[in-house]
Amino acid sequence: MRQYKIISVQKEEVASIHCNGCGTPIPRDKHGNFEETLHIEKEWGYLSKRDGEIHSIDLCQNCYEKWINTFAISPVSAYKNKE
Ligand SMILES: [Zn+2]
Repeated sequence: MRQYKIISVQKEEVASIHCNGCGTPIPRDKHGNFEETLHIEKEWGYLSKRDGEIHSIDLCQNCYEKWINTFAISPVSAYKNKE
């Protein structure tokens, strides 16, 4: 037999997101979800120029569009272009 008691548990949640590119706060939709961003987390490995550093980046959609327009090769997949 098990008897249960109610306990309080603390958890971590994202309180705010700011775009690393332009500094703009990322707004929430009517359901409280943040608008889409590009989120990248990268831990640089041994022999890289940033060995041991951890980078966390969020880009708003406007900054993402500006960034990918600088690429030599588009990140847009062929599958998406068929639609
Ligand atoms: Zn931005």
